[in-house]
Amino acid sequence: MKKRQPLISSESQFVAMAAQAPAMVWVSGPDKVPVYFNEGWLAFRGRTLQDEVGNGWFEGMHPQDADRFLNEYSLSFKSRQEFKIRCRIEKHDKEFRWVVHHGVPQFNEEGDFLGYAVSCMDVQELFMLNNELEETILERTLDLAESEHRLRTIVESAPFPIGVYEGREMRIVMANKSIIEVWGKGSNIVGKRYREVLPELESQGIYEQLDRVYMTGEPYHARNQQIDLVVDGQMGSFFFNYSFTPIYDTNGHIYGVINTAADVTDLQTALQKIEKSQEELRQIDQQKDDFIGIASHELKTPLTTLTGIVQLLHRKLQDSPDPFISGAMIRANNQIKKMISLIHSFLNISRLESGTIVIESERFSINKLIKEMVEEIQMTSPYHDIIYSDCEPVTVYADHEKIGSVISNLLSNAVKYSPRGKNIEVKCVRSGDMLLTSVADEGMGIKPEDVEKIFDRYYRVESDHTRSISGFGIGLYLSAEIVKRHGGRIWLESEKGIGSTFYFTLPVAD
Ligand code: ADP
Repeated sequence: MKKRQPLISSESQFVAMAAQAPAMVWVSGPDKVPVYFNEGWLAFRGRTLQDEVGNGWFEGMHPQDADRFLNEYSLSFKSRQEFKIRCRIEKHDKEFRWVVHHGVPQFNEEGDFLGYAVSCMDVQELFMLNNELEETILERTLDLAESEHRLRTIVESAPFPIGVYEGREMRIVMANKSIIEVWGKGSNIVGKRYREVLPELESQGIYEQLDRVYMTGEPYHARNQQIDLVVDGQMGSFFFNYSFTPIYDTNGHIYGVINTAADVTDLQTALQKIEKSQEELRQIDQQKDDFIGIASHELKTPLTTLTGIVQLLHRKLQDSPDPFISGAMIRANNQIKKMISLIHSFLNISRLESGTIVIESERFSINKLIKEMVEEIQMTSPYHDIIYSDCEPVTVYADHEKIGSVISNLLSNAVKYSPRGKNIEVKCVRSGDMLLTSVADEGMGIKPEDVEKIFDRYYRVESDHTRSISGFGIGLYLSAEIVKRHGGRIWLESEKGIGSTFYFTLPVAD
């Protein structure tokens, strides 16, 4: 048998050392029976050496640990190997404490087995600490599981597409119903790689965007982005607002990307339609502009000639004994005036569009102009009463003809858009250095949504009623431009079915 070195050369030397050791130490003979307990142990137990040696010490063994201890202890005596056995031992305060017995086999110089020298460590604190740690770890694990569950619930129930991809290879770990529908590749996609599921994105720059987010941590956002997808086997174009946002682990390392998206295809298609019809409207307006430009120029000369002839005839024939002839000449003259004013507005529109409109200002009495216009319109509108109570004489510095056309336009609209037999009231009041003129009718009125657009070029209210009334939708646009160019303001108050009042201001010239 191989000769073993004794750990401690003499028993007395060992006992002396053990007695002073701050630890708990005990010694057993080869028959397993403890023969010695040091001061540390006795103090821990609150008992004497006599109490402990032999089987006495075992009274302090926790009943639940007794069998296991004896079992492992006996096995060690057979194998004569070092042992470490954990058990609870009763302390002097009657509380059980967790301790660890660390036994080292002892041999004499001849190599005979002498038993074990056992050091015993109170590990209660450690044990508690460990338990606590285990508990926190367990709690954390539960927390983590719960937050993961919560995340899953959020992702699943979100009404918009969400996908979660992990690793640089972008493995799909979560994909909600909404994103599964958008992709149109069936629901069996979790666990697959993004590229594998969506190969059609190869040339659309998406893989690169994802990789950049994963590598740099910078989120990526796209708006109204066209994406071509093979949905249920068919290639189609869609529009999305989408985001790729990095996700970090507890160490602050990126481990994946969250993809949220909103399918804005319907919106985008609607927008495109609107844009298209807006473009069409713009083109129609352009055609109208062009036509008006040409027509007004072409009509100007013959109309001037015609006006001359009609006025001449009117003078010559006004005393005709035939009442039909004199009446016809009055009507012809009135219709020509209407045409002239229409051609004037056409010309003014063209000038406005080309930026060549000029305001030729002069001093004149606005009261006189209003009175003239009221009389002129009254003459051709026998079915309406235009009430004008003269206001104090006010001089303005303005374009006489253009302001005349503003008043004439408001008056003829009041006539056009109110039924026969109704009154129209024209007022003017001076307020500080401004003159406020108003034209009020008792007509059909204007809905609030139309009020906003009524001064737009070519805008006419769409209704069965207005459709039968002729007009180009340029009168108010021109009037507003003219008033604005004079430093004034134009607006209206209206109630559907009750009537409208148009107002405009002009600076007074004193
Ligand atoms: P037009 O009368 O030639 O159509 P306007 O620019 O003068 O063009 O008027 C624009 C639109 O505003 C008209 O088509 C009409 O629908 C509405 N409108 C103008 N004046 C009145 C009014 N006094 N009462 C009701 N609607 C009016």
